[in-house]
Amino acid sequence: MIKTQSTSELIQIIDALKAEGKSIGFTPTMGALHHGHLSLISLCKSENDISICSVFVNPTQFNEKSDLDKYPRDLDKDADLLGTVNNDILYAPSVSGIYPDGLESKVDIPLGNMLSVLEAAHRPGHFEGVLQVVKRLLDIVRPDNLYMGQKDFQQFSLIQKMITHLAMPTQLRVCPIIREANGVAMSSRNQRLSKTGLMQASIIHYVMSYVKQQYALQKPEDLKKWAMDYLKTEWCEPEYFEISDGYSLENVNNREAHDYVVASTAAWIEGVRLIDNMILLHPSKT
Ligand code: AMP
Repeated sequence: MIKTQSTSELIQIIDALKAEGKSIGFTPTMGALHHGHLSLISLCKSENDISICSVFVNPTQFNEKSDLDKYPRDLDKDADLLGTVNNDILYAPSVSGIYPDGLESKVDIPLGNMLSVLEAAHRPGHFEGVLQVVKRLLDIVRPDNLYMGQKDFQQFSLIQKMITHLAMPTQLRVCPIIREANGVAMSSRNQRLSKTGLMQASIIHYVMSYVKQQYALQKPEDLKKWAMDYLKTEWCEPEYFEISDGYSLENVNNREAHDYVVASTAAWIEGVRLIDNMILLHPSKT
């Protein structure tokens, strides 16, 4: 595997690969890799000649400096894990390699309400930072295919909008959520949970699964209220639980009006903010 921190070196390597007609798949990450990330990279590797993975903890998408400081980092371990799925290139740029003119998080793409609901309502400026970094990474890597996880539903939805709006020559591929045996969605942040916290976190998947099972039978507002009440315990503090249209991310009130529906939540356990989602209704299943 080629490892580089240099943006100019990476651009040269990619230019040469493109000149040879190689297809390029790209998986951006913030490192502290787990099996969720590796599932993206395995798919990327199987669908492209070359798999490029970036590890970059993007400062512009963190709302709180303490969260940025606490974010787990272990590039050597990440490189070892990437080797197990035959990733070809690891790109781990410095902050100035991505933001040569200083940190910037202004986006000029019409995204409507998508930038004010769900995660965006609770993490102001977060997605502006995500869009900024993914745009910069896509400009550098110029991949044929981009791999992202359903785990970050609003994130991939916004990135798809950006790709379409800017007519970028990249296809977005979305991979299912990889979970621990007890249903907890894998996340780099799980490293900060104790064994007990990780067990307790399975309440989120339990609630999601129940809501999915009941979706056709109960009103969305009743299910949302039930979910918030159930999640709220001595050790779990839900921030929101929403049932939204899978395309627009608008609230679902009338079930009949939507053929693609997703439930999403953010909840705090042991001071760690966990997010999860589940598709309640998929267009192909109606
Ligand atoms: P992150 O390093 O958290 O920025 O995540 C990098 C990519 O991995 C994003 O596209 C995430 O949606 C995806 N991802 C994170 N956790 C999972 C998971 N449990 N299953 C599948 N994809 C994931």
